[in-house]
This record gives sequence, C-alpha cells and structure tokens, in this order.
Amino acid sequence: MALTDSVTVLPGVGPKRQEALASLGIETVGDVLFYFPFRYDDLQVKDLAEAADQEKLTIKGVVVAPAVVARFGAHRNRVNVRLQVDHSVVMVTFFNQPWLKDKFEQGSEAAIYGKWDAKRHTMTGMKVLATQTQDAPSLAGIYPVNKNIRQSTLVQLVKDAWARDAANIQDVVPSAVRAKFKLMSDREIVHGMHFPDTPLEAKAARRSAVFREFFLFETQIQALREDNQGEANGLAIPYDNQALRALIQTLPFELTNAQKRVVNEICADMRSPHHMNRLLQGDVGSGKTIVAAIVMYAAVTARYQAALMVPTEVLAEQHYAKLTKLFADFPVKISLLTGATTAAARKHIKADLASGATDIVIGTHALIQKDVDFANLGLVIIDEQHRFGVNQRKILQEKGLKPDLLAMTATPIPRTLAITAYGEMDVSTIDELPAGRQPITTSWVRKNQLREALATISTELAAGHQVFAITPLIAESEKVDLQNAEQLYEDLNKAFGDKYQVALLHGQMKNDEKDDIMRRFSQNEIQVLVSTTVVEVGVDVPNATVMMIFDADRFGLAQLHQLRGRVGRGRSAAYCILVADPKNDAGVERMKVMTETTDGFKIAEKDLELRGSGDIFGEAQSGLPEFKIADPVADYATLNAAQQTAVGLFKADPTLSAPEFAPLRAYLARRQQAVGSLD
Ligand code: ADP
Ligand code: MG
Repeated sequence: MALTDSVTVLPGVGPKRQEALASLGIETVGDVLFYFPFRYDDLQVKDLAEAADQEKLTIKGVVVAPAVVARFGAHRNRVNVRLQVDHSVVMVTFFNQPWLKDKFEQGSEAAIYGKWDAKRHTMTGMKVLATQTQDAPSLAGIYPVNKNIRQSTLVQLVKDAWARDAANIQDVVPSAVRAKFKLMSDREIVHGMHFPDTPLEAKAARRSAVFREFFLFETQIQALREDNQGEANGLAIPYDNQALRALIQTLPFELTNAQKRVVNEICADMRSPHHMNRLLQGDVGSGKTIVAAIVMYAAVTARYQAALMVPTEVLAEQHYAKLTKLFADFPVKISLLTGATTAAARKHIKADLASGATDIVIGTHALIQKDVDFANLGLVIIDEQHRFGVNQRKILQEKGLKPDLLAMTATPIPRTLAITAYGEMDVSTIDELPAGRQPITTSWVRKNQLREALATISTELAAGHQVFAITPLIAESEKVDLQNAEQLYEDLNKAFGDKYQVALLHGQMKNDEKDDIMRRFSQNEIQVLVSTTVVEVGVDVPNATVMMIFDADRFGLAQLHQLRGRVGRGRSAAYCILVADPKNDAGVERMKVMTETTDGFKIAEKDLELRGSGDIFGEAQSGLPEFKIADPVADYATLNAAQQTAVGLFKADPTLSAPEFAPLRAYLARRQQAVGSLD
C-alpha cells in the first residue's frame, strides 16, 4: 500500500469517479490526502440562548418522537424531527430529503447543523452530523469541488484514504527544517487540515501546510536552477548577424528602442556558451512576438531549431500565420503542432522535427509529449509563460541538448515576488509601447446603462471597426456561462445583426469551429465577436477598437488588463467598456483602477493590494504561479522563508544526496513525470 496508488483502490471509485477526481487534479491516494479544505464550517454546539436569528449552527439533543414525513405537491416533502435540547424541544425540518426519516431513532442522540429561527424556536436542517453524538465533528472542512463531484463524496474519500494510508505518509520537508520553523510532520498536517477539532488546530495545520507548499515549489525552482548550472556549458549559438539585419529590414515598422535592447540582451546570451534562462516581460501590445521571431531566426541561421510554446490553440495558429508571412521570403520551414493536429499530419510534423527538416515549430502542450523529438533544438520560447508550470518549462528544454530558454509574459510581476517565483531566471523588460499607439478610453457602466455602451459600439462599427464582447467563464457552471454568452449574442445580434456579422465563440465548440470564427474575425468577415474568455491571451486583431466586458467585476485585474490589451493595437482610438454591477467594495475598486490607469505595472501592484479579498477569479492570469492553499501575498513572509531554506539546502547539498532528502527527491522526480504526460 502506498500513497502513489491510484484512487481506484479506494472504495466506490470506479472509472467514472476516477475521471471526476482527475478533473480536480486528484489521481492518487496521496493526492486525496493532500487535497485540503479551503474553509471550515463551525459545527460546534452552540447555546441556543445566545444564538442569533438565521444563524447557522449546530444543536445536539435527544430524539423525542419518531420523525414524520409530510408531503405537499408531487415532488415536495419535508421531514420533521423533534429534538430535546437542554430544557426545551426544538422542531427541525429537512426539506426534500425523505430518506432522513429513518436516520432518527427515538431516544437516541443526534447532532444537526442548520439555520436557526429564533422567533419560532425551530431549525431548518442542513446536515445531519451524527446520530451518535460522540463522533460528531466540530468543524467540517469545505473542499473546492466542481460539478463532477460532491462535497460528501470527497469527505468520504478523505476518510477512506486516511484509514488506508495514514501510516504511509512520509515527510518531504526535511526534519531539520521542520525543527527550525516548528512545523508539523506531513501526517500531522494532513490530519489537522482534514479533521481539526478546533479552529486553532486548523490554523496551526494550515501554517505548516503553507510552508510545505511554498517549500516544495521553491525546491523545484532550485532543482531547475541547479540543472541549468550543473552542466558547465549551455549552447553557444553563432548566429548570422547579417541575416538577422536583413530580416529586421523587412519589417513594416521600426523596432522600439526597448525591443532593440531586449533583442540584443537575448542574442548576447545565445551567442555565449552560458546557458540562457531568461524571462521577457512586456506589457500587452509591447511587441514581444516580433522579438521572439527575430531570436528564433537567429537560432535558425546557426542551423539550430527553435520551438515556441503557447497556452492555447487559437494563439498557436495566430502566431503560426504571422510567422509564416514574416518568413515568406526566407529559407525557414515552420510547422504547427497542437492538440487539434490530425494524426496523419502529426506523424509528418514529428518526422520533420526529428530529421531537422523543420526549423521552427509552434505549438501547445502537444510539444512536450514524450514522442516529440528534435534533431537539433537550440532555443525554446514559452509565450504567456505563467500559464505553464515550472516543470513544463523544463520538459520542453530537455528535448534538446541544452537549448536556451526564453519565457515571455505580459503580466508585470512586482519585483519582490518575481525573485521568489522565478528565482532561477534573468529578466529582460520591454518598457515602451510602439509609437503611435492610440490611448484606450476605459469606461464603467452599470447594466442598466447599456444603451450608452451600444451607442459607442454603433459608432465604431459605422467607422468600419470591429468589436469584442466578452462574458466571464466560471468552471463550476459551464451551462450558465454559455447561457450568458448566448443571451449577449442574441442581444447584440438584435441590435446590429441586420448590418453586421455577429458571431458567438465559446469553449465548448469544436476546435475547427473556433478556428474558423477566429479566422473570419481577423479577416473582418465578422464584426462583432461575442466570446467567453477563450480570446483572453495574445490574440491580435488591430482593426478591433472596442472591448466590451460583461460582468467585468467577476474578472481579476490582471485578466481585465489582458483583455483590454486586445484593442488599441491599430491606428484608431480604442474603447474598453466594463459592464458591471459589482457586489462588493473590491469589485468597485477594480472597476475604478481600470478606468484610472492603463499602466500594467500599476495594475499589477493594485492587484496584489486588493488580493485576498477572496473573490478574485482568473488566478491563472495573475502572473504568479498557482498555489492550492498558500497565498503568495498574504503569506509572503513564509514564501520568503521557504525560498531561502530551499536555496540553503541546494547550496549545502546540490544533488540532495543525503538520505534524509530521499522523500523530497522522490517527490521532485514524481512531479516531473506527472507533468510529462500532460496534454
Ligand atoms: P504582445 O507583446 O502583447 O505579445 P504583440 O507581439 O502581439 O504584443 O504585438 C502587438 C502589435 O504591435 C502587433 O500587431 C505587432 O505587429 C505590433 N508591433 C510590434 N512591434 C511594433 C513596433 N516596433 N512598431 C509598431 N508596431 C509594432
Ligand atoms: Mg503576445
């Protein structure tokens, strides 16, 4: 028995549930044990004299009479049960759960969680905690779940996993480190996170769990760094300067000074035998793609291959189209490899990569599959790099001998955090937008002021421009998202459909449908594109001048900034219209920040400041790595300590060869494998 066993060894987990669990990232028993609650419901029994009306609380008492079921209407019913609590009797009602009737035995004890009605001295039951009250928990963990899996299922799985494998939980954090920071063992963490008796206990477990999560992350970064430096030399890529100049001459614009500077920085790294491991930061629209193209061409002139990995198919295709055009008159063979590539085409592409016939390949996760081999990979570029994990960067790199790595991100990361999150990289920054960019006017309207927004759209359409209309995407309720997008599509089609082409794009469409729509939009065959957030990253359609974002308060600042960056790329003035009725102060604040500044760095800092308010979603856009329970802002001090600790470990023992590091080494090896099979 081991933590690495598949979840299918747990009772009640067949192929279907296995798949549902996989959608939460849970594949092994260990994954279950380390899948932690994000909050707890306090189930401690409360003195009813002190309870407020409508408060959610737990009562405990003796069942005084058999429960009765009352039916009303065809499908509705309720179970009433009377509980003797201290000196009074409380009537508890459960709606539409008739099976509960048999749970209550007259004369036995029960603990029930529910909503208290102080006036009537009754309760609406929400959960039967126990019918033998000595095993009633006092805190109930609430787990992040999705539509495929229920809370109660997860709770049971955690119990089963604990019963089976608690004894096999090993400490990945070395004991000296634990002693220094007074941290719990992994087993104590797991127990404390899932089954705390008091809020204090949960808090203590979380403190250790947060350190553990950061520590493991920083250890991966250090391992990566060690790998980079361990082998004395990277590749020296003796590119052809003349050829590079010739390419730059053909561009329809002059490079900005910032672009020239970063091209020089990158090229110098490539030419030297020092292994390049560089982050290219630059706000949306600052022109990173052309920098990528130039340095990939540099590699090609030295007879090396270059690979560009991007997070979405739409983006991969767009880059492919652009580069194909750019290199039309140059002897460069470019291929595209994504999840949508047909098996037959894939075979050819892979053969050409392996033989060296292909010079530049652009692709998604498909590029890091095990069966993709390169003849002579010299440069790896990762666009929108925060979308990829540390190990994914690494896997693509391992496809070559020691290819240089350039990671690009549009999300400026405040310095302090950048050092901890990307500690292994050098940084180049494009801090200047191409000249002649039109300012983007951002306005915030309430839903009932939509008319004004439509007027702007109407004017822009009449001027021959195009419009994005975005609705949010919430993983938990794809159906609702789709309905929202469809509704918006119908509204806009009603308003503009007689004169213009309005189209709907959403995540559930087939890939070729999506591509077709994106293509038609970029060729101005479609003027109004209603979309869920599939267009969020990187898409470039200079003729689009309006970005309307529906329910804008549901996006994080970084994501709003990204979306806004989709317009204002051409020669005409552009507009960003935020449509939102924010439900809280943080939402209002985000709308204000967006209307006040277009500076990515300012927005990133504001984002950090506002973070922790708990309702930001679109974390993936934040530019920071995603953590499960730790929060790099709120827990910043811990992040720092974890980073320094990881650095110290590798300094003392670069290969972590000491026996006490064995579990940590095993963890690192597993992480790498897990990511290798990801698509
Ligand atoms: P991002 O940095 O967000 O990836 P892109 O690379 O997509 O930005 O560039 C945005 C737009 O700016 C593209 O249409 C690109 O052709 C254009 N562009 C890039 N560099 C320049 C420049 N120096 N002068 C004018 N336009 C440029
Ligand atoms: Mg880009």
